[in-house]
Amino acid sequence: MINKQLGITIKSPREMDLMRQAGQIVAKTKLAVKDAIEPGINTKELDVIAEKEIRKLGATPSFKGYKAGGNIPFPSTICVSINDEIVHGIPSNRVINDGDIISVDVGAIVEGYHGDSAFTIGVGSISNDSQLLINSTEKALEKGILEVKSGVRVGDISCAIQDYSEGLGYSVVKQYVGHGIGRELHEEPQIPNYGKKGLGPILSSGMVIAIEPMLTIGKSDTMLLDDGWTVATADGSLSAHFEETVAITSSGSEILTQVK
Ligand code: MG
Ligand code: MG
Repeated sequence: MINKQLGITIKSPREMDLMRQAGQIVAKTKLAVKDAIEPGINTKELDVIAEKEIRKLGATPSFKGYKAGGNIPFPSTICVSINDEIVHGIPSNRVINDGDIISVDVGAIVEGYHGDSAFTIGVGSISNDSQLLINSTEKALEKGILEVKSGVRVGDISCAIQDYSEGLGYSVVKQYVGHGIGRELHEEPQIPNYGKKGLGPILSSGMVIAIEPMLTIGKSDTMLLDDGWTVATADGSLSAHFEETVAITSSGSEILTQVK
């Protein structure tokens, strides 16, 4: 169902159930990839593990073949972004090394409904600064999710994420944002990681959104790499990314992309 005024879809109980199923498959796939991450593995190998898991669980990858604004279709199941790469990295024969930080974004479709979630993790032993960035980005997502309930505005979520992150001295990426999600991977409304309390669309029960802070140690400016997909920090600083698909329910919120 579409709220014509805002272009935001309200899911029926049946649709919500399919989104729960998609979310659980994304959650399990994240764990399978996490288990495989170690120095020496290449990112294409991680992609193969993710695609096998998603298909074994009865879903299809959301990102494979996805086109964004005239881009070449995304060629893989997961996005893998290393160190200064923020999002949308294409799996390849690039080997991950001890000390790297790696962001993995997973999407899966069940009967036409998407789940979308991402995490960042250290490879082997990483620096304190890297670990702090990762922990803080995950916490920023938590701060955003804590705001979610029927009646709040998108700006309440955005502001919570921005205030927390900038308070720690990090920058939030502004060019890429969270989003509504359902039959489309990216639906209205946009969920920026910056903004003002009390502004933006009002959320209500039955909406589902993907909240996804991207933090950097340096500045927030981004650059698109030559492959047409990978987004990196313009200043080469480290970046981390966490994302969950979150449903607004009558009693508050429900994270769909964590294992139940
Ligand atoms: Mg994602
Ligand atoms: Mg997303």
